[in-house]
Amino acid sequence: MNLMLHRLQAALNELDVQQLRRSRRIADSACATRVRVDGRELLSFNSNDYLGLASDPRVVEALREGALRYGAGSGASHLVSGHSRPHAQLEELLAHWQAPYIERARGLAVSTGYMANLAVLAALAQPEPNHTVIFSDALNHASLIDGARLSKAQVVVYPHADAQALAELMAKHATQHPQVTNRVVVTDSVFSMDGDLAPLPDLLALCERYGAWLVVDDAHGLGVLGAHGAGALEHFGLRSPHVVWMGTLGKAAGVSGACIVAHDTVVEWLVQKARSYIYTTASAPALAHALLTSLNIVSSAEGQQRRAHLAALRMGFHDVLLPAAWYRLPSETAIQPLVVGQNAQVLQLARALYEQGLWISAIRAPTVPTGTARLRITFSAAHTLEDVQQLKHALEAAAQHQGAALPQAEEASP
Ligand SMILES: *Cc1c(COP(=O)(O)O)cnc(C)c1O
Repeated sequence: MNLMLHRLQAALNELDVQQLRRSRRIADSACATRVRVDGRELLSFNSNDYLGLASDPRVVEALREGALRYGAGSGASHLVSGHSRPHAQLEELLAHWQAPYIERARGLAVSTGYMANLAVLAALAQPEPNHTVIFSDALNHASLIDGARLSKAQVVVYPHADAQALAELMAKHATQHPQVTNRVVVTDSVFSMDGDLAPLPDLLALCERYGAWLVVDDAHGLGVLGAHGAGALEHFGLRSPHVVWMGTLGKAAGVSGACIVAHDTVVEWLVQKARSYIYTTASAPALAHALLTSLNIVSSAEGQQRRAHLAALRMGFHDVLLPAAWYRLPSETAIQPLVVGQNAQVLQLARALYEQGLWISAIRAPTVPTGTARLRITFSAAHTLEDVQQLKHALEAAAQHQGAALPQAEEASP
């Protein structure tokens, strides 16, 4: 074998040794709670389709209608000729949703959340990267980490969800680097692998004190948080011109894409300068057309019912009996992680659940810190309470099968 391939093969072998090799299963059915995988029907707790809209017939029909009206592809980037009426309507809709929380709110539809995060961080630093510092939560999503790298600004990582530690770091940085005039604080609103919330009111207060931007990645908040599903800003009732909001549209909204909402001037700067927005083909207009339907469901009374059902599912899972060595993270969202620890153990658990007809992915480093390998259990409004019972029984059976002693029932009850 030639040397270059040999080097890659050796690195792949090392992943095997560390139980870090990932593989993909091929689904033969739509994203739903019951999926066909490798010829078997499985109950899935994997997807980010929190409201169960990805295969909703009304959304699918809107996608079809959008394709009939606007074709299969956009044909060009937004600044050339790919920007179509449904993209503009989508931007207006999401700007309208965030308008109570962001002054002079304007939307910008971007093809993916990953690209939107690159766009925001690179563009906010771009006028003067040497005079910019990005303060980034230790558990931020990979796309925010990559956006911070792309920006060429200084990056200071602050301890997870710790506004007090951030305050100290910002104060220290201000005295040590007086030339830095442009500050950006960036955070997930709901942390994707932990399910907890960022302390947005405290972070915003700091940003206002320092004249800093607060970039909020609401990938797991949009559709799930807030009475109308507008996300984390609605949930906390924040309002500020400092906020740059980003929501993804492939999760609770059930389709694909992302939207940035910020002050008109910020969005105009992004349109002019954000390379991951400019130098890529606009998403298919049909996707934006389908999103107009799904987002209307999200904000409707039906959307509220779906969010209430999601909360009921979470409560139904509350009393699952698990071995002491495993722990659940305190999460008030649809993301219910179960930390098992070592890679080999979590893989064994995921396999045992798979044998029982449940599909839940094992999440390992570098997606989560080493030693905190976990099952990332996610609920969807399309799940039933019976599905959650099945999950609980399967977890309890798998725990016994792995030889991990279950706590006594009376110990587990409050
Ligand atoms: C999924 C996700 C993204 C990326 O969004 P895509 O539209 O899938 O590219 C960004 N940030 C967070 C926190 C996410 O969970």
